[in-house]
Amino acid sequence: MLIGHYYNNNLFTTKMKKYNCRVCNKSLSATFVFREMMFGFRDEFGYAECSNCNAIQILEVPDNIEKYYPPYYVSFTQQVPVLKRLPYLKRLINDLRIKIKYKNSNGQLIEFLRPAKTKPDAKILDIGCGKGALICSLFNFGFEKVSGVDKFIPDEVDHGYGVKVYKKDLYDLESNLYDLLILNHVLEHVDDQISEIKECYRLLKTGGTLIVSVPVVGTAWEIYKENWVQLDAPRHFVLHTLKSMAILAQKTGFIINKTVFDSTAFQFWGSELYKKNIPLTLPNTHDWFAVDKGFSSEEIQKFEKEAKVLNATQKGDTARFYFYKY
Ligand SMILES: [Zn+2]
Repeated sequence: MLIGHYYNNNLFTTKMKKYNCRVCNKSLSATFVFREMMFGFRDEFGYAECSNCNAIQILEVPDNIEKYYPPYYVSFTQQVPVLKRLPYLKRLINDLRIKIKYKNSNGQLIEFLRPAKTKPDAKILDIGCGKGALICSLFNFGFEKVSGVDKFIPDEVDHGYGVKVYKKDLYDLESNLYDLLILNHVLEHVDDQISEIKECYRLLKTGGTLIVSVPVVGTAWEIYKENWVQLDAPRHFVLHTLKSMAILAQKTGFIINKTVFDSTAFQFWGSELYKKNIPLTLPNTHDWFAVDKGFSSEEIQKFEKEAKVLNATQKGDTARFYFYKY
């Protein structure tokens, strides 16, 4: 089997008939083999591209998917900030600053919430949040009504001040409760795309926003193909396109209010590593490859510059979509 090349044998073509796109339900066409490279297992997985929306997706979710989420996987080892609550008066001033400028009393900006017009008293839920690093950061910023949900954590986590991460399915949560939902690099790990977003729709209040951050098929895919770092086989089940995201929103009742491309230098240096057959983590310690050991600062600067250019033309390899429930 040739890595990254099209499968062309008859057997595979026959087998292909049973696969349909997870987003638009049309037939899958071009097919590929991608390898697990974050940890260097190098196991091979069949993927295909949708003939209609061009989303790239895994053909079959492996039975042993747990193998690819070892204890040293990033979301299990993330550092969670300790909650710090401002005294009452300072909190009022902080709230005011957030409302006016999306800036807090420490001068920190929170640009990603601006398009969602999220207020400091908004009820926020981070879905698939791991231990809850993001909600704790949001709390320290000044958003106090935050919680998280993750069905894969070992136990419920209580961070104090009412900030909790629930070990639950979305189906177990109450309807019309939240002003803001966050799916931060989670949707690409989900098999049933439509059900997941429908559940989000159910949980949101009318006028609420769901922020979906995902990898997007763009220039990095065109350049690197099977070595594109965001393929992340077999963990990423679906690599979306602008078209597939539009279909997903339309099928689930949302409208997309805004799309912000936020790709970084990582799309280049990560993919360059894979091209050289180097995993993203070190074999013994499982620490991330230190980018400054593999690339000069000039190279990194060049990658950063290129990422900015791609983002400006909607060709970067990650984006945030603001799904609005009207
Ligand atoms: Zn499709």
